[in-house]
Amino acid sequence: MELFIPDYVENILYRLEKFGYEAFIVGGSVRDLILGKEPADFDITTNAKPEEIEEIFKEYKTILVGKEYGTVVVVQDEGNIEVTTYRLEAEYLDGRKPSKVYFSDEIEEDLSRRDFTINAMAYNKSKGLIDLFSGQKDLENKLIKTVGNPIERFEEDHLRILRAIRFATQLGFYIEEETKNSCTQMGYLLKKISAERIREELFKILLSDRPSYGIRLMEDLDILEIIIPELKETVGFDQKNPHHEKDVFEHILCVVDHTPPVLEIRLAALFHDIGKPHTLTIDEEGIGHFYGHDKLGVKMSRDILKRLRCPNEMIDDVANLIKEHMTHHADLKDKGLKRLISRVGKDKIFNLIELQKADKRCSNRNADIGFLFERERQIQRILDRNEPYEKKQLEISGYDIINLGYKEGKIVGEILEYLMERVIDEPNLNHRDILIDMVLKKFTNKAK
Ligand code: ATP
Repeated sequence: MELFIPDYVENILYRLEKFGYEAFIVGGSVRDLILGKEPADFDITTNAKPEEIEEIFKEYKTILVGKEYGTVVVVQDEGNIEVTTYRLEAEYLDGRKPSKVYFSDEIEEDLSRRDFTINAMAYNKSKGLIDLFSGQKDLENKLIKTVGNPIERFEEDHLRILRAIRFATQLGFYIEEETKNSCTQMGYLLKKISAERIREELFKILLSDRPSYGIRLMEDLDILEIIIPELKETVGFDQKNPHHEKDVFEHILCVVDHTPPVLEIRLAALFHDIGKPHTLTIDEEGIGHFYGHDKLGVKMSRDILKRLRCPNEMIDDVANLIKEHMTHHADLKDKGLKRLISRVGKDKIFNLIELQKADKRCSNRNADIGFLFERERQIQRILDRNEPYEKKQLEISGYDIINLGYKEGKIVGEILEYLMERVIDEPNLNHRDILIDMVLKKFTNKAK
């Protein structure tokens, strides 16, 4: 088998070999090349020790990532390459990190510490493919299977349980039976894993082509209740409403799949209806309603995202989309849309429309979403015409108002609010002189 290795990667392999060492591309890059995909990055494994790697590449810019882990990053214009010494991991004491890393002289040992057979292959031009665990066969059969006994491998590093689901989702693969059963059996151990590591895997699942596959796998393997118990409550939750064909969980999965792969939108899709199981009321006709589920969804999603240690800005963006997700019910004219743009932000408004399109499309097979495309065009027109929708676009500031003689404080806010209201209605009023005139006429001296 011959795999195509770009020159800037081949150059590193060549140099290591020239100095008498073995060197292979390894892991995800070999897997992706065999699959005919372009690898996101190339990792190299070698029997050269970190200080030897640094010496060989002394004319290059290098970064020693962690001497004890044996990784040196070689920086080139075309991309950075991680060059790592063959290693063996000594006991994992806490299921999270190896207690000590031992360097090895054997590629076989390095491959045997890797998580899944499809990630445990190495390749170079002279030796060809090194595939000790039938990774190529598993690639053909679309199987995620641990290298060695899954119970032991998951005991060593519990995150591998979620990684199995992540790779299955990204690649559209199945998890091999024994590996799968072990995921369920050992899933509770994920509670011990840091929120950051869980989050990174979860985000990769969400950004894949079909996130529903991964979320459903989590549910099938009893992992969902460990990572996001709030979502578990939506499984099988009947909405008792003819406008909603699916139960809450199935609806959420559909919405996530129908949104573009933008993290904030996918997270908002995942959590937009998470408040529903707590807000169901049934009217006299037996129809279900979920008043306030958007508000509760904001609170619950903030708690979940905080637990996953997401940055505040991301939490605010997701919460804002969830808060506004029901606004597609309102019949908004230009004025209402400007208020919506001002609440959501001009950079995020189209994210909201994407979420709403998916939400509507997934609620009912006869749902018409044409009005959302029209709304999108209407918003674009407002933005293209540069029509003001928020106070900072007014041709007059709070400072100007104070200079007119009004007291600093509440009244300044009221005046700006009044001007904004008028300018939203009539954009032509947004001229300094006109605005000053309006202030002086409306807010007489008593306010000064
Ligand atoms: P991608 O970069 O597309 O996410 P990848 O396979 O490169 O895929 P990484 O998480 O970057 O994924 O890991 C690189 C390689 O390191 C893997 O292919 C695997 O061989 C090994 N590896 C990573 N994490 C683990 C782990 N927790 N246990 C065992 N081996 C691992």
